[in-house]
Amino acid sequence: MSRAIVVGAGIGGLAAAVGLRRMGWDVTVYEQASSAEPVGAGISLWSNALRALEWLGVGETIRSRGAVRLGGGVRTPSGRWLSRSLADAVLSDEDVTMVMVHRADLHEALLAALPPEAVRFGHRLERVDEGLDAVTVHLATSAGQVTDRADLLVAADGIRSVVRAQLWPVQFAPRYSGVTAWRGVTDQPFPLAEQSQTFGPATEVGVIQLQDGRVYWYATGDDAEGTTAPDERAEVLRRIGGWHAPIRQVVEATSPERVLRHDLYRLPRPYPSFVRDRIALLGDAAHAMLPTLGQGGCLALEDAVVLAAVLSLTGDEPGGVDLNAALLAYDQARRPRDQRLAAASDQIAKITQVRHPVALFLRDLMVRLTPPRIAARSVARATDWHPPR
Ligand SMILES: Cc1cc2nc3c(=O)[nH]c(=O)nc-3n(C[C@H](O)[C@H](O)[C@H](O)COP(=O)(O)OP(=O)(O)OC[C@H]3O[C@@H](n4cnc5c(N)ncnc54)[C@H](O)[C@@H]3O)c2cc1C
Repeated sequence: MSRAIVVGAGIGGLAAAVGLRRMGWDVTVYEQASSAEPVGAGISLWSNALRALEWLGVGETIRSRGAVRLGGGVRTPSGRWLSRSLADAVLSDEDVTMVMVHRADLHEALLAALPPEAVRFGHRLERVDEGLDAVTVHLATSAGQVTDRADLLVAADGIRSVVRAQLWPVQFAPRYSGVTAWRGVTDQPFPLAEQSQTFGPATEVGVIQLQDGRVYWYATGDDAEGTTAPDERAEVLRRIGGWHAPIRQVVEATSPERVLRHDLYRLPRPYPSFVRDRIALLGDAAHAMLPTLGQGGCLALEDAVVLAAVLSLTGDEPGGVDLNAALLAYDQARRPRDQRLAAASDQIAKITQVRHPVALFLRDLMVRLTPPRIAARSVARATDWHPPR
């Protein structure tokens, strides 16, 4: 039986492990975190991600835990609607769905699809050695160093990938976008009349209801790399506390220690390759992008499905291909699409991050005058992906 090591038990790594096991691979996932603590806030899963999750066998679980996003649109900080029917137009296309879940639910569903012994927490990858017939990983644990070997290494170790840093040229390291993001989920269910995205000067805020009635919110703004505040919730309120209701109330309904802040990075493009010998980059390790399209995690799920599908073709049977050919097929199938959506995310960030009053006026005018069906069409194009048969 072929054996794979997956580094990173994020969305991409867990999905890859589920997919590879479906294809008959023996898989071990190594994760640096000491346990599967609930992570993050909300995450939007579009139709493409939902199809990937169906293929992986966890679609039903996620649909049952997610809230289908309905209603809402785009507002100005004063509360004026720039486009009220945008979300309805997007979701009126029967091929487009968007389910909002708590990240912890997504992680839990993927973890539950793996046997417990397949995921080893508290193992931090430090170095990789490539050999002709195997790849060796060196990991640090609280009990000392551990070494393991496999036919394949899936590097799903996120934007700060140790594998990529060791084996890919340094000019392909992540770069700070100039934008930082805060996220939170209200501690308790919160009555939200309408979901919205609000565009202000170089700042965007979103409020979206989760299935259990709590509200997931995010805010972006510009700041110097690495800046932090002693109280991030107070910092968010300082920036957007005066915006239309219920933004302040939603942020205030979140405990300060639960407010997350992350600087946003992206990988430079075009990227030379997602694969090398017996190693495949996957998810943010391959194509970290700005979250403006809400597709980074969705694409990690797509990557996982495609990787598993191409690896199902490896073997000595008639028509079987070697590992190298399968990884090249993965690279060719994924790199153009992942990078196209990363570029589209950058384009949207240019619109949301404007600051000059004239640019703000033009941006708002553009949002107001763009027919919702045009925006809906571009979302439909971005989410139009189907798993290989
Ligand atoms: C503000 C914000 C909002 C977003 N919203 C959305 C959204 O709505 N929809 C969407 O689809 N995407 C969204 N994204 C993007 C999404 O979060 C990422 O694309 C996704 O989490 C990538 O998953 P991953 O598994 O590739 O990486 P990660 O989630 O980063 O997981 C990597 C894992 O590898 C582990 N790891 C790292 N280094 C090592 C090591 N050396 N050894 C062992 N383990 C290691 C980490 O601990 C982690 O568990 C958003 C991102 C941000 C920042």
